[in-house]
Amino acid sequence: MTPILFGLQAPVVVSLGTALGYFILIMLVIQRRGWSEWPLRTMILYLALSVLLSVGLSLTLWLGLRSDVPQIGERLAADLLTASAPLVVALTLMFVSRPGAKWVALVGLFWLGFVIAVDFNLFGLQQAILGTLPAAATDPMKPLRAAGWAGFSAGTLMLILVDFLQTRRPLHRNRILFWLLGLLFLLLGELLMWLDKAAFMVDVNQIGVVLRFSGAVILTIAMISYHLPVLRTVTRQLLSGTLTTLFIGGLIFLGIMTVLTVAQQEVTLGALVAAVTTAIVLGAVIHPLRLLIARLIERVVYSGRYNPARALRDYGDAINNIVDLNTLSTVAVGIIAEALDVRRGSLMLINQRESQPVIDVVIMEGMGALTLQVAEFSQTSPIVHYLTEGAKPLTQYEIDILPEYRPAPIPERYWLHSLEMEVYVPIRDKENLVGIFAFGRKESGEPYSTQDLDVLMTVANQTTVVLQNARLVSDLRTANTSITQLNAELTESNRRLEKLDKAKTDFIEIASHELRTPLTQVRGYSDILADMVQQGGFVAAHMNQISQGITRASVRLEQIISAMLDVSRIDAQALDIRTAAISVAAAVKMAVDNYKEAIRDRKMNVQVVDLDGLPPVQGDLQRLCQAFGNLMGNAIKFTPDGGNIIVSGRTLEDSSNGRSQRFVEVMFADMGIGIDAADQKLIFEKFYRVGTVELHSTGTTKFKGAGPGLGLPIAKGVIQAHGGKIWVESAGHDETRLPGSTFHIVLPVAMPPASGSTGPLRGKVS
Ligand code: ADP
Repeated sequence: MTPILFGLQAPVVVSLGTALGYFILIMLVIQRRGWSEWPLRTMILYLALSVLLSVGLSLTLWLGLRSDVPQIGERLAADLLTASAPLVVALTLMFVSRPGAKWVALVGLFWLGFVIAVDFNLFGLQQAILGTLPAAATDPMKPLRAAGWAGFSAGTLMLILVDFLQTRRPLHRNRILFWLLGLLFLLLGELLMWLDKAAFMVDVNQIGVVLRFSGAVILTIAMISYHLPVLRTVTRQLLSGTLTTLFIGGLIFLGIMTVLTVAQQEVTLGALVAAVTTAIVLGAVIHPLRLLIARLIERVVYSGRYNPARALRDYGDAINNIVDLNTLSTVAVGIIAEALDVRRGSLMLINQRESQPVIDVVIMEGMGALTLQVAEFSQTSPIVHYLTEGAKPLTQYEIDILPEYRPAPIPERYWLHSLEMEVYVPIRDKENLVGIFAFGRKESGEPYSTQDLDVLMTVANQTTVVLQNARLVSDLRTANTSITQLNAELTESNRRLEKLDKAKTDFIEIASHELRTPLTQVRGYSDILADMVQQGGFVAAHMNQISQGITRASVRLEQIISAMLDVSRIDAQALDIRTAAISVAAAVKMAVDNYKEAIRDRKMNVQVVDLDGLPPVQGDLQRLCQAFGNLMGNAIKFTPDGGNIIVSGRTLEDSSNGRSQRFVEVMFADMGIGIDAADQKLIFEKFYRVGTVELHSTGTTKFKGAGPGLGLPIAKGVIQAHGGKIWVESAGHDETRLPGSTFHIVLPVAMPPASGSTGPLRGKVS
């Protein structure tokens, strides 16, 4: 006998009730979240189909029970059930933010079309398809529909299970678990709805309708609300509530049984005394017993709980005297991590940038494999805004799920996500965010409880002053280091300036000396000529000597003046270079030949080796000869009589920048007095000469002979104008051990001649 409710059969009322329920759910979705997003629209569509399904079912039951009207309602209901299965897959995909929902919906549409085609026997499909499936008594289409439904439902369950297993973050897991729970109810309900109720004692179809609706309620809640109850905690609370009730209930039951036994159904004085005693005993023990049981259950069920008051006291004691940022970070993170049982945590420092709307978040040393790095956050980012407000910690779950964090820049969200932290606790100094504590998931896999978050907030507040102190100390240390460094740089540049200043003063002395010497010679010769005129006799041999002397002196004057002009051209980057493919060997040979006499006079041993096989370079023969000559002159000048000088060369290859380039290297190695490391760069500065200026020796090729300090700057200018490099290597200055010096010149090899390859080329000297 079917029970009657409100004058209708109970199943009809249940179906109509669920139809109303689904409708309320639709209203709830729209009121809470609107319908602007696809997951919400799909949910609404799904619920709307469910309304139709329930109405269809109630029609079927109502009309079907009273008359022989065709079972349109049942057919409609079955089609809707068929259509909703792929929708559940699509919804689940959207819920876990996976792609493919559109495709599933498309497949679902095809499936529905196919089922309807078979149902209406289009193209004679019914015989072709249904003949292959087991026959069902009432509805021949049932096996086909049920098979499709089962396929889609199995797919949904697989999908959500895989996602659940892949997710490690507790709150994200809880959200998926919630959906899974809803799905289980929903699919179990639908399964019961497919069954033939005649085969069972109870109306399984009706139970199915109710279960399906409960599942839909859970799914709707999961879809529209962000803060879902933590299922683990709810289960625990249920468990501990049930256990406590059972214990206390058992005790009361024992008490009543005792009284009944004593009374033996008569109200005697003994029974009364027993009842009063039992009541007093129960009254006295129930409260402490309840507490005891609750504590016992707490200990068994919530193992690993910590004592917040003690944790906070320990924390305060440990960090109060720390003044070093790194120590603060490791100690603070370590203590909190131990109390909360987490293995990953870090202190992040916030550095405000002056007059820029961004802040730098710097990860300090902490726990777990952390990459110490800096990230840039916008000050207008909702994440930064929330943390600066500093009311409560922010969880990664909230950043991932809540719509208010969606406008945060993608790199910020991605960076935070990649840190594998669960919670971010702001550390604030008045209105400013100065740091963030970040902690990973708990070892127990539980999410952070409200109490945990409160403790973390208190800890962060306790840290503010210590953190600010440590930052001050760190800033002072950095300032100290940079002052020391600046001091060192200042001393160095002072030393350099002093040397250059001395070089300039020396130059005036040197230049006047260098210029005066040939001038004095010219003057001397002109005096001799005057004397000769006075005495009235010109001796041809004397005249020859005098004219040679005057020529030598003026050549020297010319050399000095042209060196000064060259240096000023180099300074003005106006050195004219006329390039052509030239042989380096020829340039060196010309340069060495100019010193033939000096080499002979000073009995030097000069060897020129390995130059003939060198490739030609694109260069100015005159200028390169000048540069090589200056090096040769120095080698002779700073090597004692009879010393060795070797000029050699080689070809170099460089393919470091992707394409192969060839260079020619020429080396002038002497066995002379050498150059101190400190002077090796300075000698290329104009007017710089090592040591005290010697004015007594005027010979340009004599040992340690004088010079205006322009030879090397000119050589450097010429080589650089050819795109080359020049430097010196020497083991130091020592006039007895004679460590020698080697000057290296590297020139790029000539490129294949382009059109108009020879012509003036303005040299660039840097
Ligand atoms: P100068 O015209 O006085 O030779 P340079 O510019 O050619 O000036 O050289 C500057 C200084 O570098 C020289 O005074 C000398 O002290 C040092 N120097 C140059 N070449 C050598 C060398 N081959 N061995 C030792 N010292 C050298």
